Amino acid sequence: MSIVVEGVSKSFGSFRALQDVSLTVPEGSLTAILGPSGCGKSTLLRLIAGLERPDAGAISIGGRDVTALPPQRRHVGLVFQHYAAFKHMTVWENVAFGLRIRKRPKEEIARKVGELLDLVQLSGWAHRYPSQLSGGQLQRMALARALAVEPKVLLLDEPFGALDAKVRGELRAWLRRLHDEIEVTTLLVTHDQEEAMEIADAIAVMHQGRIEQVDTPDGLYDYPASEFVMGFVGQTC
Ligand code: ADP
Ligand code: MG
Repeated sequence: MSIVVEGVSKSFGSFRALQDVSLTVPEGSLTAILGPSGCGKSTLLRLIAGLERPDAGAISIGGRDVTALPPQRRHVGLVFQHYAAFKHMTVWENVAFGLRIRKRPKEEIARKVGELLDLVQLSGWAHRYPSQLSGGQLQRMALARALAVEPKVLLLDEPFGALDAKVRGELRAWLRRLHDEIEVTTLLVTHDQEEAMEIADAIAVMHQGRIEQVDTPDGLYDYPASEFVMGFVGQTC
C-alpha cells in the first residue's frame, strides 16, 4: 500500500516540529527519511503510525484517509531503535504476542510464528529468552513481531542505530532482501547517509521539520546542490 502525507504540521507547545510536510511513498517502495537528529523524522513516523495526531494535514495509506484512525487500523508494523522485548517471554512468545491478543486460532499462530522465525533466521532460537540474544538478533525478532500481523506498511525508526557497524551492514542487506521478498511498503528513518544510499529506492531529506528534497540515491548524489543538502546530515537541527 502507498503512503501519502499531505501538508502535515505538528507543534509541541510553541515548537514547530513539522511544517507543511508532504511525501508520497509508492506501494512496494523502500523509502528512507534521512536527516540529522532532532529534525522531525520520528515525529513524522509516529504520525503515520497513528501514535500522534497532526495539527493540520492528512495521511492516507493504501488510498484510504487514516488521519483519524487508531494505529491498529492502519495496517502498519513498527520497529524502533530500542526494542522493548518482553524479557520474561521466549522469542517464540514475543513473536506470537500480537497474534495472541488478536485471538487467532492456535494452529494458525503456531504455523505463522514458525514461518516468521524462519524468515528472520531465528528458528534455532525460538525457546531462548531475549537476554540470550545479540543486538542484531533482537532487532530481527522485533521485525518478526512487527510482521506477525501482516502489515502492508513497515515503519522502521533507526532500527539498527544501536548496533555496531558490522552488524548494521549485515542487517541492512538482510532488510533489503526481506523487503523484496514480502509484499510490503517500507519507510525507514535513519540519520546514516550511507545506510539510506545503500538500501533505499528513494530518499526524503529532512531538515528543521521540513522535507527539503526527495530523490533516488543516484539523483540525490548528482543533484547540483547535493553537497548543500547532504551537508545537513550529521549536524543537529
Ligand atoms: P528526530 O527523530 O529527527 O531526531 P524528533 O521527531 O524525535 O526528531 O523530534 C523533533 C523535535 O521535536 C525535537 O526537537 C524534539 O525535542 C521535539 N519533540 C518530539 N516529540 C516531542 C514531544 N512529545 N514533546 C515535545 N517535544 C517533542
Ligand atoms: Mg528519531
